[in-house]
Amino acid sequence: MPERPIIGVTTQTLESRPDLPRCWVMSQRYVQVLTAVGAIPWVIPLLQPDEATMRAIYERVAGVFFPGGVDIDPATYGEAAAPVCGRTDPARDWTELRLARWAIADHKPIFAVCRGVQLLNVAVGGTLYQDIASQVPAAIKHDNFPSGGHGRDELSHDVRLTPGSRLARLLETETLAVNSMHHQGIARLAPPLEAVAVSADGLIEGVESGNDQFVVGVQWHPEDLVDRDPRMRSLFSAFIAAARSFRP
Ligand code: MN
Repeated sequence: MPERPIIGVTTQTLESRPDLPRCWVMSQRYVQVLTAVGAIPWVIPLLQPDEATMRAIYERVAGVFFPGGVDIDPATYGEAAAPVCGRTDPARDWTELRLARWAIADHKPIFAVCRGVQLLNVAVGGTLYQDIASQVPAAIKHDNFPSGGHGRDELSHDVRLTPGSRLARLLETETLAVNSMHHQGIARLAPPLEAVAVSADGLIEGVESGNDQFVVGVQWHPEDLVDRDPRMRSLFSAFIAAARSFRP
């Protein structure tokens, strides 16, 4: 059996309620899919402002996975929050921005989904649309949320993949139908990230690093599609393979 790399999976703050103190939570789905392809998952707390402990956790993982979640505070990319911006999680932003920048500096493998790909772009100096529907009038509908009656595995739109990119090679195609549960998106992409998947309206739906580091981010939710499209699993498998061979 090949070595199983430890993969950090970040969490989100759940504010206290009458039946619960404040918690850190994350969808089980990401952890289950990562574990199924060979990861030892490590669910990461958001210990702001304890940078020393966060760094110690970071140094023990072979790869970092950035999941979906709430909106990123626009202050992190130099903008005031517009009324269309949704709920944010400052402790999550603080934690994930550090993990992403450390991993990019060390060429440690990164895989990012939905909010994760947006976070990655902000970590390297890019910007986001705070709300696609109101800021990009020509955009197709991307906010097909379960709360609006959409299945998590509903195929909402196609993306076009850049031929020869890591993403196109992993998925063995140049056109892919994907789910779409986001109202924010990448506005200005920053290097070393390159756009390798776009929807018909030109919105960036997939990025990777322009160098040899395994950095892959997708705006859709592959963890919800692994059963209906086995190719989606290869994104997770390739991430684990990269983490397995990572050497500091
Ligand atoms: Mn979309």
